[in-house]
Amino acid sequence: MFPLNHTHDPKTRSWLDSANGHPDFPLQNLPLAVCRRSGSHEVFRGSVAIGDHVLDLAALARQGLLHGAVQQACEAAAQSSLNDFMAQGRATWQALRHGLFDLLQAPSSAVAQEAVRACLISRNQVEYTLPARVGDYTDFYTSIHHARSVGRIARPNDPLTANFQWLPIAYHGRASSLVVSGTAFHRPMGQALPAGVNTPVQGASARLDYELELGAFIGPGNGHGTSIPLDQAEEHLFGLCLLNDWSARDIQFWEMTPLGPFLGKNFCTSISPWIVSMEALAPFRLPFERPAHEPQPLPYLAGAINRAQGALDIQLEVHLETAQQRAQGQIGARLSHTSFRHQYWTFAQMVTQHTMGGCNLQSGDLLGSGTISGPAPEEAGAIIELTQGGRQPLSLPNGEQRTFLQDGDVVSLRGWCDKPGAARIGFGECTGQVLPARTAL
Ligand code: MN
Repeated sequence: MFPLNHTHDPKTRSWLDSANGHPDFPLQNLPLAVCRRSGSHEVFRGSVAIGDHVLDLAALARQGLLHGAVQQACEAAAQSSLNDFMAQGRATWQALRHGLFDLLQAPSSAVAQEAVRACLISRNQVEYTLPARVGDYTDFYTSIHHARSVGRIARPNDPLTANFQWLPIAYHGRASSLVVSGTAFHRPMGQALPAGVNTPVQGASARLDYELELGAFIGPGNGHGTSIPLDQAEEHLFGLCLLNDWSARDIQFWEMTPLGPFLGKNFCTSISPWIVSMEALAPFRLPFERPAHEPQPLPYLAGAINRAQGALDIQLEVHLETAQQRAQGQIGARLSHTSFRHQYWTFAQMVTQHTMGGCNLQSGDLLGSGTISGPAPEEAGAIIELTQGGRQPLSLPNGEQRTFLQDGDVVSLRGWCDKPGAARIGFGECTGQVLPARTAL
């Protein structure tokens, strides 16, 4: 785990006014994305969010302001994907964070400020691409509250499968259909077995859902045939983003026995552009606790560090904006709010489980946390839970109702960390719009 240091001090201010008190991107955050000026043909390059701006690391690397390890880290992070920077590990990540913190904190020389200002672009004037080439994407299933309420729909008498409390369950997802926030996608086609009939039908999904998740990018990988022990797992975590695992429930539930999700999940997964580093998240660590009456993790999934500070208190929200709301100039509605602190397994445990059999993780690989649902019904991270499998429609403030998503709907995930004695930091947004299905096959 990263220890707290001067880069977490909430009293430190930046000479860039918009950073001070910024709800997402103050000096204490410094998340990374890959972007360029909107509508341009510029090369995408690594950038850091600061206040209302992005700091173009490619431009900064040419300014001659940085030296030694910080300059090298800046050059690695300035590339058009962050894979090389991710692979370099903690010393490099920390060199960049601490170097940029020094550069952006007040006071600093007028000459240095001028040179840094020349590398700033207004954040509403950039467009993003995926921050890394994701070789493999694995989606876990680690909220016991989500597992129970979705399990109840499929197996009323036995909602939680026997393995859930013993290992972080996952399936291997599809990296090719990962998209960055703001990308629209078409309602998927597939095969489903509607209730009350014996023959499946082919067509557009009628039960399209979102899943509120966090994504973890892998830093240094592990060799094929090796594994990552739990007490080293955090060193392989580069940072976290918001992730929406769009899910076609009708397709998914018909196809997923016995091998798991396929077309119900593989049409689109959205991530936020900004990756918040594990070091920035250090103030928001909490003990990882298991109720005494529940099975304790087997020894390979247990450890003193994970117990003391394995959990993360990340506040998360889901918002929905319908086409009607947009047409009438209304704002969307918040559907739910929860915290990642309730998750049953930590990302470190997911890394250890993933590699225990010798599977090699590679830099830029992405792990999804699984749907994040808290203990209360209104903390559910998917609409299938909020509507009890589509039986209880949600009423929106403008009178519209939803059981599942409709064409034109925009779903936005938001995330942030906030507590007394620390600077609030945020993830920004992960949005995506549902377009009508393409013409049937
Ligand atoms: Mn999922």
